Amino acid sequence: MKIDEIIRSNRKTFALEIKPGGRLVVRAPGKATAEQIQSVVESKSEWVNHTRARLAKHYPAQDPKTFKPGELFWYLGEQYPLRLTDSHRPPLELDGAFLLSKSAHNRAKEVFIEWYREETRAITQRLINQYAKQNRFKVGQVRITSARTRWGSCSSKNNLNFTYRLCMAPISIVEYVVLHELAHLRMRNHSKAFWASVAVLKPDYKKDKAWLKKNGFLLTLD
Ligand SMILES: [Zn+2]
Repeated sequence: MKIDEIIRSNRKTFALEIKPGGRLVVRAPGKATAEQIQSVVESKSEWVNHTRARLAKHYPAQDPKTFKPGELFWYLGEQYPLRLTDSHRPPLELDGAFLLSKSAHNRAKEVFIEWYREETRAITQRLINQYAKQNRFKVGQVRITSARTRWGSCSSKNNLNFTYRLCMAPISIVEYVVLHELAHLRMRNHSKAFWASVAVLKPDYKKDKAWLKKNGFLLTLD
């Protein structure tokens, strides 16, 4: 049985999770061998298949974007239809609809990614400047990545990374993800103390976390 992601930590037990879309994520003790992980998964294969089938009913498979006019694209929690225009510059603009230059249609996906990347960069940078000032965080560089499963991450050099898909989410979610990573600058784990520090920064973060878990898979071009 194929495993999509293995997350090792200092836990003592194994945990399997099926993500919307059917990805199998295994949380394993740090010292577990590949064989051990595989044999745990094989012993749970019935549960995996059953859970996938159940999820497929709740979360119909997402079709990858085809960039046909009228197709809907996310920005800050709202969906806007795609329209093709004769205008050349810029190749993509949001003005009640996503206006894509006809001359850029053959590279629509790259143009969208670039647009989302710049928006995510601008929004996260603005939030970081605001929070860093209020809370004296020392932030390194901000990088926008193409990560598919992680919304943000924090490097040992205090650089913060966010996926370009982040600006598809409602602003409250973007704020939560930024604050979550800022909180990691001081605590690089997900301990109770870490979550308490997130709660100080954003008291209603639990609803954002739950929203992301439930809806995050919708925010994609793939
Ligand atoms: Zn985290």
